[in-house]
Amino acid sequence: MWDARRGFLLATGAVGADAALAQVNVGSSSQVRNLVPAETLENSARQQYSQTLSEARAQRALAPDTYPQLVRIRQIASRLIPFTGQWNPRARDWKWEVNLIGSKQLNAWCMPGGKIAFYTGIIDQLKLTDDEIAMIMGHEMAHALREHARERLAKSQVTNIGLSLASQLLGLGQLGNVAADLGTQLLTLKYSRDDESEADLVGLEIAARGGYKPEASVQLWQKMLAANGNGGPQFLSTHPSGSNRIEELQSNLPKVQTLYERARQQG
Ligand SMILES: [Zn+2]
Repeated sequence: MWDARRGFLLATGAVGADAALAQVNVGSSSQVRNLVPAETLENSARQQYSQTLSEARAQRALAPDTYPQLVRIRQIASRLIPFTGQWNPRARDWKWEVNLIGSKQLNAWCMPGGKIAFYTGIIDQLKLTDDEIAMIMGHEMAHALREHARERLAKSQVTNIGLSLASQLLGLGQLGNVAADLGTQLLTLKYSRDDESEADLVGLEIAARGGYKPEASVQLWQKMLAANGNGGPQFLSTHPSGSNRIEELQSNLPKVQTLYERARQQG
């Protein structure tokens, strides 16, 4: 399946040089996700995102465009976004948005369709460097690009409600209600360990291509686990951590080192 994907990328000419081919190996996406149309989910996410921003704004917790920490994370995003399209062709048309919410929560996420939020808590309390922020951002982007939310939601629809809802999702029923329901679920969605491992590796590669130091991924998770002692980051409750996470990242560092060095030279 992976070879088929590489063939696809070459055939469509989506990427020119072979340097653009994926270096980390994560296999192909689950087919179950097709039960939830990508467009439906992206619409739900857009609604949920603007609602979340409105709520933050009402509490005076939404950073204005000129806020230095927001400028900083938008700058990092702009270096990663060019490398997202090769992981999901839809992403070439996504309207990426990055916002910063003032909150003690150690949290960050990217909804389907490229809607990103960072909470000041995760940046301040973990004293994140730009490289570490890029690793979190790449990880979150990877969840969206690999459509993990879509897969989780499709699986839960099948398990909990059965095929009648699936048929609604396919356009035969009340799409509006389903879309709102999906949006709410996006905020509490819990990923599987396989999703996490995939997001780690894809995120690592995207960040390396953007010119961010691969070793920062390991430092980041060491910080995250250390912070887990006192109450624990919100981030870890929705992104379960396998004990081998750091080892897996470490063993993948050599695969992306050249991408990083090339990006720095061009940089
Ligand atoms: Zn995750």
